[in-house]
Amino acid sequence: MNKDRYLVVVSGPSGCGKDTVVKTMREKHPEIEVSVSATSRAMREGEAEGVNYYYMTREAFQQKVQAGEILEYTQYNGNLYGTPKHEVDTRIAQGRTVILVIEVEGAGNIRKLYPEALTIFLLPPSMEELENRLRSRGTESEEAIQGRMATARREVEQAPLYTATLVNDDLETCAEKLYQMIREYQKG
Ligand code: 5GP
Repeated sequence: MNKDRYLVVVSGPSGCGKDTVVKTMREKHPEIEVSVSATSRAMREGEAEGVNYYYMTREAFQQKVQAGEILEYTQYNGNLYGTPKHEVDTRIAQGRTVILVIEVEGAGNIRKLYPEALTIFLLPPSMEELENRLRSRGTESEEAIQGRMATARREVEQAPLYTATLVNDDLETCAEKLYQMIREYQKG
């Protein structure tokens, strides 16, 4: 099997539940690993270094990019986010499945670098529901929420470019479907 097939991208608009779906799937299937990204954004309450992200200054992030340590990166709502190379390459070479939970521009870059990676676009049940979810986090200003909604509308247009789409209406069902998709793809 082509090693790219061990790489899975889960993308979709911010607030559609990407992280929660992946986390729920891993409770039952912990052998599926998840990549920890680097970011220049501030740590949110409840997050931890090396668990949610590797937090760093913009300067430190840019140094890593210069050093060739970042596979793909993007600027999102004023902050830098990127996938460290070491989170991906060793794992897929060893036949361990690794998931990147990233936004759509990064997903497009991964598609170019790893043409056989499985890319899944996660859709919220509706745009209204997405806005409710962003608001209920209570961590963002109104301006940031409106920024994320505008981005989300543009992002949803890219869904047809993915290997598959998945609607996050029921968390447990969606998490199990994600797992099945991964296993089916790796069989084929
Ligand atoms: P948040 O600030 O909500 O944690 O993340 C904002 C967006 O950045 C989310 O859509 C998240 O999936 C995305 N993101 C997180 N890490 C990466 C990464 O390494 N690369 C890219 N391209 N996007 C990322």
